[in-house]
Amino acid sequence: MSKLKVGVLGATGMVGQRFVTLLADHPYFEVVSVAASPRSAGKTFREAVEGRWTQKDVAIPEHIADLKVQRVDAIERITNQVDFVCCALDMEKDAIRDLEDAYALAETPVVSNNSAHRWTPDVPMFIPEVNPEHVEIIPAQRKRLGTKNGFIAVKPNCSIQPYVPAFHALAKYVPTKASVCTYQALSGAGKTFATYPEMEDNVIPFIGGEEEKSIREPLKIWGNIVKGEIVPSRTPAISAQCIRVPVSDGHLAAVSVSFETKPSADEIIACWQAFKGDPRGTGLPSSPTPFLNYLTEENRPQTRLDRDAGKGMGISLGRLRDDNVFDYRFIALSHNTVRGAAGGAVLMAELLHREGYLVHK
Ligand code: NAP
Repeated sequence: MSKLKVGVLGATGMVGQRFVTLLADHPYFEVVSVAASPRSAGKTFREAVEGRWTQKDVAIPEHIADLKVQRVDAIERITNQVDFVCCALDMEKDAIRDLEDAYALAETPVVSNNSAHRWTPDVPMFIPEVNPEHVEIIPAQRKRLGTKNGFIAVKPNCSIQPYVPAFHALAKYVPTKASVCTYQALSGAGKTFATYPEMEDNVIPFIGGEEEKSIREPLKIWGNIVKGEIVPSRTPAISAQCIRVPVSDGHLAAVSVSFETKPSADEIIACWQAFKGDPRGTGLPSSPTPFLNYLTEENRPQTRLDRDAGKGMGISLGRLRDDNVFDYRFIALSHNTVRGAAGGAVLMAELLHREGYLVHK
């Protein structure tokens, strides 16, 4: 079977570049179209990213380097070339929403990194190992859109990826409330040390919109499909503080959590070590093994040492200990531009393909 043809919208950006490298030699998908702003349109991809290629140690894939960058609003031309699009744009939310709608209405599925559609009730938001069953909302979304093939699926915010899988593995003990503080890398803002000089020798205790996303998005992931909508879960109650720190890649979360039934620390670690994820969302080309990895050293996980676990798709956990206010506290880490962005979206595309929602046109 030939590969599905993919267009990357926002291909010149930090997440877009990651899409391009992750899809360069993919077993199911091939990039045939790259698109960005009018600033990049008309240039070759190589010219458009000259001086801002951020993928350390990975060259621009040869077969993509010479593609001409198109404008993202060249919808008719792009939809005629591709089976689906991956989207990672830095634009106003309304403009992104309109653009993603336009692609879906043009019968081209949208696999999105953006937040614009995360709260549209019939748009699924996936961590494939956690809520693969949310694919079942897609027929209702297609019915609303009046499409046969087009739909939108989104990936949640990068800040929640370290702790949602850790809580999910402990679902049988019912996490009731949690407090998280995330220490987030510069690449989460699409920046590097060169382009974010204020971050040298500094910590900034504000990331616009991030705390609300960190509190609310997990509840949609744990939600149920009711009458064609995803109704968010009401628990656990999560409090979040999100802080930008001078680290290139890797979001680390300091987490405190209480349960309806308090497990022992050994039971928690055993659950994490045994947790592979829902079989419906695992065993895909980008699935990491193991998914969760508990490190016993008292000073791990560390961003530099552990963010690349499972090629950036694994979650590293450590420092589980009793808490004097909550039941336990621990540290969790995930790679923000791989698991938290393009890698998580590619995994979602693999799930949608296996479930029959991404097909040849
Ligand atoms: P970025 O590096 O700033 O890249 C932005 C992309 O959007 C570029 O391709 C840019 O094209 C394009 N663009 C900007 N303005 C445009 C316009 N007016 N019309 C068309 N295209 C336009 O941003 P990023 O870090 O990759 O993030 C992209 C999206 O992913 C954002 O919504 C972000 O919130 C989300 N996200 C990022 C991360 C992360 O870790 N970085 C994680 C999760 C989600 P030009 O190059 O031509 O300007």
